[in-house]
Parts: sequence; C-alpha cells; structure tokens
Amino acid sequence: MTDQKSGPRLVTIAAGVHAWIGANGDSNAGAIETPDGVIIVDTQQYQRLGSALREVVLTRTGKPLRNVVYTHCHLDHTAGSSVFADLPILAHEKTLAAMNACLGVRDGESWSISDLATKLGFLFGQNILELVPEADPARAWFVNRIGTPDYDTVVIRPPSETFADSFTFHLPDDTVHLRYFGPAHCDGDIVVHLEKRKVAFLGDLLFQNRFPWLGDCDLDGLIAALGHVLALDLSVVIPGHGPPAALADMARFREMLIELRAAVARALKAGVSEDAAAREIELPRYAHLQRYKEWKPHDVRAAYRYLRGK
Ligand SMILES: [Zn+2]
Repeated sequence: MTDQKSGPRLVTIAAGVHAWIGANGDSNAGAIETPDGVIIVDTQQYQRLGSALREVVLTRTGKPLRNVVYTHCHLDHTAGSSVFADLPILAHEKTLAAMNACLGVRDGESWSISDLATKLGFLFGQNILELVPEADPARAWFVNRIGTPDYDTVVIRPPSETFADSFTFHLPDDTVHLRYFGPAHCDGDIVVHLEKRKVAFLGDLLFQNRFPWLGDCDLDGLIAALGHVLALDLSVVIPGHGPPAALADMARFREMLIELRAAVARALKAGVSEDAAAREIELPRYAHLQRYKEWKPHDVRAAYRYLRGK
C-alpha cells in the first residue's frame, strides 16, 4: 500500500474497527465500535478535520460516540478535540502532564493557542526552538507546517480521565488494552490493542512510509516499546502516519531506528561535532522516505543530544 495523494479515508481494518488514514501521510485516527457506542482514537490536527472524522464515523457506523482516547499529546493528534466536546477523553497521565507543561494555565475547559512558539512546541516537542533555532534556515519549514488558517487558533481539550499504567475496555466480543511502555515517541504514548481482532493503533510509535520525527523522543524507550509491540499477536498495526502496516513493517522501522542510533553513537565516540553529525550522517536505505530530507538532520541532532546526555 502507498500513501494516497488525495483526501483522508476511513478504512475498515476488522469487524467494527476502522482506521482514518490522513491524506498524504497526515496524522491518522481510529474508530472502534462497541455496544455502548464508538471509541474514537485521536481527534486529528484541527477542527475541520476533526469534524470530517466525526461525520464519516457516524455515517459508517450509524452509532453514537462514547469516548475519545488520545495516543499521545501532540497537536496533530489532539487539536480536533473541540469537535468531541461532548465525550470523555481518556489518556495516560503523562499526556495530561505534557499538556499542562507545554500549554500552561487553562482558561476554562480547553486551551486556545495562537502563539507560534507554543504551537510548534506542541507539534514537535518543547525542545523544538533549541533543536531548530531561529537562525537555522530550516526553521521556515517548521513555521510553514502550521502556517495555514486552520492552525491560527488551536483548541485542545485535556483528557478528562487518566491512568498510570494501563487501562482495559472489556467488550462482549473483545478486550481493548491501552498499553503504556514508558517514554518513547514523546511522553505518555499508548498503544490501543484489540486482543481478539489482533489490531493495534500505535500512534506515533510508528511512521509508515515516512521518516519519523524524533525531536522529543526517548530513543531507547521508543526502540524498547516497539520491541514490546513486536511480542504481541497482531495482524495489522495502524501507524500514527501512513497506511496500515504489518508487524514486519514495524520491525523494519525499528531496525532503522537502531541503525540511526548506532550511527550517532559512532559519531559521538569518534568526537564528531553535532553540526558535522547532522550534516554527514545519512541513512541511504531510507532516504526515499517522505520527510527524510526535512527531518533527518534534526533527528540526528536530537539523537546526538540524547545519547550524549545518557
Ligand atoms: Zn506525535
């Protein structure tokens, strides 16, 4: 399967389980039917897409919605949440903590963010302004990324319920585990695992057909979390970006992260500077992936700082 080039689409993955696949690698979401209504997994990156998600899920399932689950805090997965204001929102407690840390004091039921630095920090991580300083010519790409009117004011609803380790929905025909494996892609990433249907929504633990954003990740934690997912009995995994994938795809993605980590560790050991590492480290086997050109240098910098700080 390849990224489709037009609009987003809702793909039925298994009986009563649907994946919203973002256009051209944009963020994904999900919908899980239960007798008590539909569980929405992530809410898209702005209200217009959140509304489109809600509408298509309603049309496809004919069922009311029961609640929202956030896989993690990042803006492109949570900023459609005002469209789901009637529903409880469930997330790991570290997702709420990350929101509080990044978004500050909340005025009422949601945060309304129009400040560029806060929006960048909530999409790419709070270290983004250090990772891509103002003088860096690459900064323009990141600013443009949220430059369309849909991002003028971003409205985020906090989780209304959180958990510390794991959470389970006991459905008549399946068990849905919200699994937490520690800091990984950011802080508070969870995997939504449908045990019987052998499907898992991985959030941004996996980017399929796209080079990942690793700016604010715990690289060892991410590789370890993917190792835990590999041990699950799964037929399909839904990445945070890109089309549905198999565990073998995820294993290859994990190998890429291990290669990147090894290359950066070698550079550090050889006394190569961060600037030189960002310039010189290449992963030719993955250079064809979407976002490789834009993100690889910053991912290398992030990995360099991460490994140096260990
Ligand atoms: Zn993310």
